[in-house]
Amino acid sequence: MKSQTTFYLQYAHRFLNFRGEAQYLHGHTGTLTIEVEDTIEPGVNMVFPCNEIKKKAWKVLKNFDHALILREDDPLLPAILDVYEKQMIKNGHPQNTMKGDAFSTELATAYPDCRIVVTKETMTVEGMIKIVYDLLKNDLNISKIVFQSGDNTASQEYPISETIERCPKCGVKLNENGVCPKCGFKK
Ligand SMILES: [Zn+2]
Ligand SMILES: [Zn+2]
Repeated sequence: MKSQTTFYLQYAHRFLNFRGEAQYLHGHTGTLTIEVEDTIEPGVNMVFPCNEIKKKAWKVLKNFDHALILREDDPLLPAILDVYEKQMIKNGHPQNTMKGDAFSTELATAYPDCRIVVTKETMTVEGMIKIVYDLLKNDLNISKIVFQSGDNTASQEYPISETIERCPKCGVKLNENGVCPKCGFKK
């Protein structure tokens, strides 16, 4: 069975060296849909409890919300960091609390303290799908990701080969010792 969860992300970006209005810094509300495919966990009658997908994904996706997403070679990056530094908000601020977990992959690095994500490639809708899949593929059997932003939508499907072992009581993924991190159930 498949289960879909949707996230809304408000972010600013630009397409460096792109000929057109998108080379200027601008913002979007992007809609990201993650589809997970797995067996239905008996007892909970769900693939994953819906809030479990949301919780797991939102921890990292929060980094893209109210964030600036720039390519690593964009000259705006040092300029903006310089301003943030002078305003003493580069390394965080007491009111900057809705932060995601910092991450660094081959495709992107998140700096939650200053709400910037630095990407290797231009952050198009296609680029976002690659980044998100890479971040979550080990925790969720992602069968499809759709990202819609402005007039653009991209989607990618992924083959599913195995089942992720989940707790028969609450449906969350068991840890490497076969224990449910939520209720303590042991396999
Ligand atoms: Zn855009
Ligand atoms: Zn459990």
